[in-house]
Amino acid sequence: MTQPNPQGLHHVTAIAGDPQRNLDFYHGVLGLRLVKQTVNFDAPDTYHLYFGDEVGSPGSIMTFFPAPGAPSGRHGAGQATTTGFSVPSTALGWWDERLRRLGVEVLAREERGDEDVLALSDPDGLRLELVADARGDTRTPWEAGPVPAEVAIRGLSHVTLTEHHRDRTAAHLTEQLGFRVDAEHGHRTRFVTGQGAVGQRVDVLARPDAPRGLVAAGTVHHIAWRAPERATQERWRAALAESGVDLTPIVDRQYFTSIYFREPGGVLFEIATDTPGFATDEVVAELGRELRLPPWLEPQRERIAASLPALALPGDPGDHAPASAGVPSAEGPR
Ligand code: ZN
Repeated sequence: MTQPNPQGLHHVTAIAGDPQRNLDFYHGVLGLRLVKQTVNFDAPDTYHLYFGDEVGSPGSIMTFFPAPGAPSGRHGAGQATTTGFSVPSTALGWWDERLRRLGVEVLAREERGDEDVLALSDPDGLRLELVADARGDTRTPWEAGPVPAEVAIRGLSHVTLTEHHRDRTAAHLTEQLGFRVDAEHGHRTRFVTGQGAVGQRVDVLARPDAPRGLVAAGTVHHIAWRAPERATQERWRAALAESGVDLTPIVDRQYFTSIYFREPGGVLFEIATDTPGFATDEVVAELGRELRLPPWLEPQRERIAASLPALALPGDPGDHAPASAGVPSAEGPR
């Protein structure tokens, strides 16, 4: 039995409202690349948009199920309440100025140990952080995007889980997933895996009195951890099942295979493989330009495509300029 030991975050998936507004913000404002335009395999009349670095490297990926008019969720316990993106240690001032210029409210700027953090919300109210870590981030950003490479997002930094009971989640992370405690700051405990570098961190925020979170637009649906490939994933699945975790079978997600389970506080976790990746059904230069469907949905392409709202891609004649994007919605989650 191989003890699971994910080498960090693979992706974070959240729910959004209007897909165009979602694309305009994550591409136009944050400067991530749309690396895959597909549908929610479990509900194919909804888009699944994947953003990341040039190739959608594991650890750089933020994905959305966007649906116009989706009801708003509620931030609270049993949820991944904040998603952090890593930027170079000298870049926060540049981002502060950019966000304000584009009409995106900066909610807070704070220092946490070696990290300088800018807090913001996306247009659906999803809580994000831009994290400048003095210890650095060696990952290569997407160099052809709307944000200059020297200040561009490098990938995911960490996620924050808000929990009623810190200890149950802590035990799951350390005893069943191979994480270790790195630091404690008040109600916040940081857990790390691998080298403990950016993208290998998860914070647990103890909030015994928080309302229970409700997953809908403006909230995270699940977070995924990295497994190198399927054989390792199968061994980890067996070990987790052996230790009493209730998991799904291995599911084919076309760009990776996945297993899903809930941590004791209720946050949906996934373990996703690094392979085969996003260049499996289109070339790197063309990633995200066309609707891609897995082989089992291809026979329904006409019906599926007709059910999806039109999307103006970056560079298309109907492309929305970044200046119009990112205005936080008044009806975001409270
Ligand atoms: Zn996922």
